[in-house]
Amino acid sequence: MGVGYHLPVPRIRVLPDGLVNRIAAGEVVERPASVVKELVENSLDAEAERIEVEMVRGGCSLIRVTDDGCGMDPDDALLALERHATSKIASVEDLDHIASFGFRGEALPSMAAVSRFQLLTADDPQQGGVRVTVEGGKILGVEGAARARGTTVEVRDLFFNTPARRKFLRTPETELRHAQETVWAAALANPDVSFILRHGPRKLLEALPTSDPGQRLRDIWRRTAGPVHRFEARGGGVEVWGLLAPGSGSGRPSLTLIVNGRPVRDRLLVGAVRRVLGQAGGGLGGARVALFVTVPPDAVDVNVHPAKAEVRFARGGSVFAVTEKALREGVAASRGHVVVERVETSDWVAESEPLRSEYENSHRPPTILFAHPAYDEVGEPGDDPPVAPFAGAHSAAGPGPRPAPPDTPFGRLIGQYRSSFLLLEDEWGLVIVDQHVAHERVLYERIKDRLSAETAPAQRLLVPVLMELDDALVAALGRVEGLLSSVGIEVEPFGPGTLRVTALPPETDAESAREVVEALLERATALDGVPERVVDELAHELAASLSCRAAVKVNDSLSSEEQRALLNDLIATENPYRCPHGRPIVLRLSQDEMERRLGRR
Ligand code: ADP
Ligand code: MG
Repeated sequence: MGVGYHLPVPRIRVLPDGLVNRIAAGEVVERPASVVKELVENSLDAEAERIEVEMVRGGCSLIRVTDDGCGMDPDDALLALERHATSKIASVEDLDHIASFGFRGEALPSMAAVSRFQLLTADDPQQGGVRVTVEGGKILGVEGAARARGTTVEVRDLFFNTPARRKFLRTPETELRHAQETVWAAALANPDVSFILRHGPRKLLEALPTSDPGQRLRDIWRRTAGPVHRFEARGGGVEVWGLLAPGSGSGRPSLTLIVNGRPVRDRLLVGAVRRVLGQAGGGLGGARVALFVTVPPDAVDVNVHPAKAEVRFARGGSVFAVTEKALREGVAASRGHVVVERVETSDWVAESEPLRSEYENSHRPPTILFAHPAYDEVGEPGDDPPVAPFAGAHSAAGPGPRPAPPDTPFGRLIGQYRSSFLLLEDEWGLVIVDQHVAHERVLYERIKDRLSAETAPAQRLLVPVLMELDDALVAALGRVEGLLSSVGIEVEPFGPGTLRVTALPPETDAESAREVVEALLERATALDGVPERVVDELAHELAASLSCRAAVKVNDSLSSEEQRALLNDLIATENPYRCPHGRPIVLRLSQDEMERRLGRR
């Protein structure tokens, strides 16, 4: 082939099923945003690293998507315009594990049928690229064209030949908003790909590749004032994490939902989000939520919608419950309050292991089971009026009890329960703080800070602590000496098989130090690998075990000043609702739940 490659003389031909395409276009191509979605997904499937979307008049006049993906050779470029031509699946079995966005082979022919369309693509620039021009489904021209590897698709004058559909287009502003949300979702789901969005002369988005989805979010929600809160939960094979930007005023919350890396819509999840935000009461108007849901690939069917915009979950209950739980935490965190709820659903309970720690099993702290709101309680999204937590929600019982004003960051302190848990009330209900894990979190961060500080507060011991150990452990001292001294533990060799601890940080006693040093030496001898990674891991373990030993225990009675100080310290930590080992720190029993269980509603 080479430079001399000649395509057939340009000719007009009717796509074999041009009419079919026009009909199919009604399903796949609804509005400019759907064109953008399909084109961006094709670029992602082509493993593009940079995707640029340009639009004019909200995409009604022009949509152009340019990528640096794998491109197509001239034969494939023509084939791609045939209906059901796809390079992505070959057999029925492939349908069960679709990894690509596209697979139906309908998008390009559908949009070519209802626009003035151009495909410019090259898979090997040495061989030359090809430009295919189509208008209303008729191929007008096929010609060689120079292009770097990649693909540009242009869709002009959408629905120019289907006036009935054109009538359904809204104003360019509205169409732009939808298209923009589509690009946002794709950009969020693929932070490692660079995205650019232009509307006429304006650049609306420029997002450089990043490994941090939070950064991607900030690139997208540029105008979001205030902090963005991260939240997460898992259970029953479902993992949910998300970001919440509380928003400043009124208006509906907006949700970007990404399931297994695929931006989708789901009425139930939208309902769940609205409901949680609604129950949370004021201050969340116009909140933005991005939800990333991961389920096993066989637990979700992506082929239920022509534009692949909806999915069907095999275990919807789990997804729903875990999402609600995660989001509640996010909302609480966004207000400086904290919530960890135990959500159990019938199909979830058996697998909720990650939420039950050994500690809970052995110590059996009060476990509050939160009933899962019945599936059918969720109406159409938007049907749920925002429910103020207590105000007049239960007519028979009259207005519910009102919370007293908060006097700590977690609400009003009621007191200590069994010398082990702090009880508080906040505007949502009863708050239970596990004093041990709370203190552990506080100390953990304090110790971690020391690791990066210049000097650690160490107290020299009048009588050094001697430790007799295996030679192998003593030999490992060199690997952890620096780490130990950075937290304030000074250790030195002292004769054969013996170490001597000469200084300790203020909150550590000799016995704990002995145990911690020995455990650390054991870990250091067992751990191999990249030194920095090992050091990080050891530092975390060291901080976690020191803080665990030094923290107040259950059955330690605390004065009310001590309780308050602990809560104030806790709220100032990076993550006030998980201890360094991942255990929850705070449980909440909502007023709602309390009243339901007491038969008041
Ligand atoms: P699908 O994505 O469902 O396979 P499309 O009509 O969207 O169907 O695309 C048809 C085929 O064209 C794809 O399977 C792919 O092989 C090729 N294709 C489309 N867009 C691109 C692109 N941007 N880069 C490389 N190949 C593409
Ligand atoms: Mg496609």
